[in-house]
Amino acid sequence: MRSIEVEVRLESGLHARPAATFVRSAASFSSTIRLENVTLAGPEADAKSVVGVMSAGVEKGHVVRIVADGADEDRAVDSLRRLLAGRDGPSRGVDSTGRLGRIDGTPAAPGIAVGPVWQYRPRGAGGVALVTVSSAGEAEMRIRKAADTAAAQLQSLATRLREMSHHGDAEILEAQALMAVDPAIVDEAVALARRGAGPVEAVLTAAEASAELLAALDDALLAARAADVRDVATRVARIIGGAHVELPTEPSVVVADELAPSLLAEMPPGLVLGVALAGGSPTAHVAILARSLGIPAVVAAPALLDAVRGAATVAIDGETGEISVDPDPAELRALADREAVREARRRAAAALRGRLAATADGQRIRLLANIRSSSDAPGALEAGAEGVGLFRTEYLFLRRQSPPTESEQIIEYRRAMEAFGPVRSVVIRLADIGGDKSMPFLGRPDEPNPFLGVRAIRLADESRELLLTQLRAIWRAAGLAGVTPHVMAPMVATIADAEMLRELRDAARTQVAAAGTACPERMVTGVMIEVPSAAILAPELARLVDFFSIGTNDLTQYVLAADRGNPSLARLQDALHPAVLRTIAAVVAGADEAGIPVAVCGELAGDPAGAAVLVGLGVDELSAEARSLDGIRAALAGVTRGELRALATWALTATDAETVRAGANDLLDRGERAKANEVRSTSASREARARVKRSAG
Ligand code: PEP
Ligand code: MG
Repeated sequence: MRSIEVEVRLESGLHARPAATFVRSAASFSSTIRLENVTLAGPEADAKSVVGVMSAGVEKGHVVRIVADGADEDRAVDSLRRLLAGRDGPSRGVDSTGRLGRIDGTPAAPGIAVGPVWQYRPRGAGGVALVTVSSAGEAEMRIRKAADTAAAQLQSLATRLREMSHHGDAEILEAQALMAVDPAIVDEAVALARRGAGPVEAVLTAAEASAELLAALDDALLAARAADVRDVATRVARIIGGAHVELPTEPSVVVADELAPSLLAEMPPGLVLGVALAGGSPTAHVAILARSLGIPAVVAAPALLDAVRGAATVAIDGETGEISVDPDPAELRALADREAVREARRRAAAALRGRLAATADGQRIRLLANIRSSSDAPGALEAGAEGVGLFRTEYLFLRRQSPPTESEQIIEYRRAMEAFGPVRSVVIRLADIGGDKSMPFLGRPDEPNPFLGVRAIRLADESRELLLTQLRAIWRAAGLAGVTPHVMAPMVATIADAEMLRELRDAARTQVAAAGTACPERMVTGVMIEVPSAAILAPELARLVDFFSIGTNDLTQYVLAADRGNPSLARLQDALHPAVLRTIAAVVAGADEAGIPVAVCGELAGDPAGAAVLVGLGVDELSAEARSLDGIRAALAGVTRGELRALATWALTATDAETVRAGANDLLDRGERAKANEVRSTSASREARARVKRSAG
């Protein structure tokens, strides 16, 4: 138990907004926290209850006692003390109006972003609501008006992007503006409405017909346009329903409580300088997406929305999790200095790109990329990826009224396979639908616990055809690309799941072969190990498949029973927790027995400290966002196999993730320094040799 007394320096004490800020901050800790107004000798209040805190009547100058009891009591007390101490605290803290100047979140995607605040408010913008009208004439009027509005919105965004020289993004929006009023879609929608369809349904159906037409053409570029048609139709449909379809109008830092990955994917990249979220966690899919798009992000900052109220600009540091609201010039200079140091480190790491990843004493580790679509392939190749360890195919299914057709999928997979060629494999993961990536077209009821629900391979019972279509597309794409296909299933939990995967794979091949299409002999088949039962069953599962790929994001949430999207549980989401590491060690042992390789494709693989521990545990391959590969390669190059093994052995018996992280970073820092010294001494001895030569000559 920790208890402190502090004098409150907030101008307006703990009333209304500052009280809410205080309570949000208190709620982000697991400890029980009580607050007592010592000056008024008032009763104790629950610091996580806004009513309780406000009724304590705390004013500026009052002394309050904070008592915290629990695992994070020290951090809780320190953080709340800083908050109440206002400007005199170690950071800028709460200003005299009760607004927070600098707050802490959890780092989610590296980089620094400074820009105007653009707050995303989700009301009405998420889905598409069906609308009833009284006559076909009204339906027609609403369709045409919404199409014009959508076109005008898209055109004005495009103009703005052109002014900022983002010509590529502008072109896409200009094309979309044309599609919004394309007679082939609008007239067809009107015709459907005249035959009795509602306006939203009419637009979506008409657009789907056009999209399918485009997708059926054997041309990757046109397939991408099909996705645009669907995007535009969704926009028009939302406008008909009266929902906002807002996007930033200038390059901004997007601030929100929560943000669906599909929404971030929908925003033109040039307009999103950074993302700051009150909710979320570093392994939530929106954070993973931000990392892969190179957008700096900070998540799990409970005080964020209060802090930015009325603010014009915000600066975020995606590496430390700091958020500065209306930063002053000194803060901006400090951020720029920090970024310059990091940039130098990034450049040094990028210099190793031409080399295959290995430890200082030559143990090779395959570095692979995680991708979301074939358009990520060039970036992955440029980053030196030796293949793809995780193709998150569900991104092809997002933001759609119906699943992608087999032909659309063939185009996508074939493009990725051809980009990497026959030697560098592309592991295609069957769509991981469910969890935080729901697909409305499946028409499934909402589940109370979607991460524990009918997700991924569990959809096979009710949506067998969805998986068969995907597997047929993979067989066919591989046949056309002339490569051996690699596939894996997410959320495998039982032996029966693995057997079903093999059965579906073989059934899909039989269907493709029966149609007379050329088809490879075999499909390299793996399972993701991300559910504890699969880890426990590793020795048996290993006899059924060709490889394992450990999904540490889900494995951590399931081993520690902590929802990966819940910001209050951020401290339980570090995959370096010894309980997770012991699970991984057991999986490696199970795989070794059967002689199959083990990859890790969760976010831990892209974190240098994580990569070090994983290699020490005996993992063969690491698959991460392309942008992380330089950092891993550089980190591993500075340490030996023996050092990594010793690190991993120690980590298995450590008490918590923080200790493991500190130990791993310490080893990597020493490795980096040793490497730098080696470079300096080699260049010094080169110079010395040159001097000797010159004097001899
Ligand atoms: C994981 O769970 O670690 C993983 C790689 O899959 P996803 O993050 O897409 O759930
Ligand atoms: Mg997963």
